[in-house]
Amino acid sequence: MQDNTPLIDPFGRNIEYLRLSVTDRCDLRCSYCLPKGFKDFSEPAEWLSFAEITRVVAAFAQLGVRRVRITGGEPLVRKDIPTLVAQLAALPGVDDLSLSTNATRLAKQAAELKQAGISRINVSLDTLQPERFKAITGGQLDKVIHGLMTAKAAGLSPIKINMVVMKGVNDDEVEAMVNFCLEHGFTLRFIETMPMGDTGREASKQYISLQDVRARLESHYELVPGVMPGGGPARYVRVAGTELRIGFITPISQHFCETCNRVRLSAEGTLHMCLGQDDSYSLRDRLRAGISDSELLAHLRHAVSLKPERHEFKEYPGQMVRFMSSTGG
Ligand code: SAM
Repeated sequence: MQDNTPLIDPFGRNIEYLRLSVTDRCDLRCSYCLPKGFKDFSEPAEWLSFAEITRVVAAFAQLGVRRVRITGGEPLVRKDIPTLVAQLAALPGVDDLSLSTNATRLAKQAAELKQAGISRINVSLDTLQPERFKAITGGQLDKVIHGLMTAKAAGLSPIKINMVVMKGVNDDEVEAMVNFCLEHGFTLRFIETMPMGDTGREASKQYISLQDVRARLESHYELVPGVMPGGGPARYVRVAGTELRIGFITPISQHFCETCNRVRLSAEGTLHMCLGQDDSYSLRDRLRAGISDSELLAHLRHAVSLKPERHEFKEYPGQMVRFMSSTGG
C-alpha cells in the first residue's frame, strides 16, 4: 500500500512546508548572521547532490509537502541552481517553489530562475543607504537593487523584502522602506532579531519589538487587515488605499510556534525540526547507504515525530549555537 498519509507532528501540526538549504556559504556577512571573516563552512562533498535533494523532496511531496523554499546561506552562490529548480518543479505535488536570496547575484539569474519554475522570491534588505548596507552586510547595495529590479522585470511576483529591524542601526528607515516598497510594488516584512549563534545574540542587544514598530507606523499610515499567500508566520496588514502589504515576523514578542508547518533540510542533509532547538535527524548517510524509498518515507515520519513544541529564544537566549546560515534561514 502506498504511504501517503499527511505528516502530522506530535502536536497535531500538519507539516506541508520544506525549507531547503542548498549551501551554508554566503557572500555577505550580515552582522546578526555570520561573523566577519567566517570561513568554517561545510565541504561541497558533504552537501547533498541535486539528485539526492530531489529524491528527498519527492518523498516529502508524497507525504503532502506542497511548498518548498530554496534558501541557504546564499543559495545563488551554489552553481546551477536553475537546474535544481527545474528538477523540483517537475515533481508531482510540489506546487509552490520559492527562493530566499540576498539578491547580490540575482540580476544574472532572475529570468532563468523564473523560467525554471521559481514563482516568487524573498529578498533580504535591511537598509537603503549604501554606507549602512556596507556596515551591516559587508556588501554593495547597488548590486542588490539591480538584482531586485531585474527580478521585477523578469516577472517574479510577489517580491517580498525582508528587513531585520535593529534599534539604533536601521530602525530610522522603517518609513523609507515602506515608501520604497510602495514605489516598486514589493511586499514588506519586518523581522525581529533572533539569538542564533554569537552573532545573533550580539545583535539581539539591538532588539526592537515589532509591536512598537507597528504602533509607530500606525501614526503615519492607516493599516487595515491584510492577507498574503505564502504559508509563513508573518502577520499581514495592508496600507489603506494602496496594494502594499506589510508583514510582521515576531518570533520573540509573539511566537507563532502553534502554527509551525515546516521543517528544514540543511545542505549536508540534516533535517532540523525547529529553528530554535537542536532536534535534528541526519539523512545523508542513510541516503548514501542505499535506503529504499519506503525506508526514506519512514525516516521522514520518524524525523517529524521529533519536532518540539516550540522554540525558547526568549527563555533561553543562550542555547542556540547554530548560525542561521547553517540551518537554512
Ligand atoms: N541568503 C538568503 C537571504 O538573504 O534571504 C537566505 C538565507 S538568510 C540566513 C534568511 C533570512 O534570515 C534573512 O532574511 C536574514 O535576514 C535572516 N536572519 C539571519 N540571521 C538572523 C537573526 N539572527 N535574526 C533574525 N533574522 C535573521
